[in-house]
Amino acid sequence: MIENEVELLIERQVREWPFAAQQYEALRHTRCREVMVDGSLYRIQFNPARAVSSGAKMDKATLAQRPCFLCDPQRPSQQQAVAFGTDYQILVNPFPIFQKHLTLPTRAHTPQSIEQRFADLLDVAEALPGYVVFYNGPYSGASAPDHAHFQAAGKGHLPLEQEWDEVECRPLHCMEGATLSYMNRALNPALRIDATNKASAVMLFERVLHTMETREGEVEPRLNLLTWRKGDQWVVWLFPRNRHRPDCYREEDELYRRMISPGCIDMAGLIIAARENDYNRLDAEELAQILREVSLDTAHFFQLIIQLKKNHE
Ligand SMILES: [Zn+2]
Repeated sequence: MIENEVELLIERQVREWPFAAQQYEALRHTRCREVMVDGSLYRIQFNPARAVSSGAKMDKATLAQRPCFLCDPQRPSQQQAVAFGTDYQILVNPFPIFQKHLTLPTRAHTPQSIEQRFADLLDVAEALPGYVVFYNGPYSGASAPDHAHFQAAGKGHLPLEQEWDEVECRPLHCMEGATLSYMNRALNPALRIDATNKASAVMLFERVLHTMETREGEVEPRLNLLTWRKGDQWVVWLFPRNRHRPDCYREEDELYRRMISPGCIDMAGLIIAARENDYNRLDAEELAQILREVSLDTAHFFQLIIQLKKNHE
């Protein structure tokens, strides 16, 4: 079973790769605090190692110049891989947010996109039932938008999976073995697919993807996706996004600058603060503002819901 191989990979890497060992040890001592925002629990994790990712420049020129850290030849020599199918490799993430944190790049250096890979995402979740598997869109939190990849996190650490999972969702479509519904949250509304049938899940997802707006010059709608197995079914969450980073990220006054760069993990309720100042000062009001800015606003979200209903009629 692949999950067993992955457990062994994690043990081996933490034992034999000093940099990874140091990073996973540091993770044990990270501070975490909780804050309630709009009736939901959020956790804030102080994780200085993530400054590399949260502070990454994402413009085309920077990406073209830097060596791609997901391409095999540029990876650290100690980083080992477990094959997943013919197209993907499973790696231990050397900048962890979770004690089990994996990166799954494609073997080929090809841009981040979900159109042809949603079924692969479901396959990974099925092969790793102990994990939440996620996809950050190229304009929605991915730190390597030029190289396709998923990530996976050992279950039990995300409010979305733990505390929010029972939030009431309103059904939109039912197909054989799959249901599309939506969660009406003021700050970060989301769509949800529950499915036992993979083909139906893919069909519902594609319908959503093709109904959402793609901005000029971009390859797909802005989104974050998370999925996991619950018994014999997949649970999939899709957060439609607006902005890549909030205004406070570029705030000139250091006192109010917050280097928070939200991706799937933050949308799912675990907010990563790479700087101590941000960790100490971020309050519920600021967090609500950040979520509001990076999420699709309620008006556009309901336009999407109406469009999805129409398409189905
Ligand atoms: Zn690459």
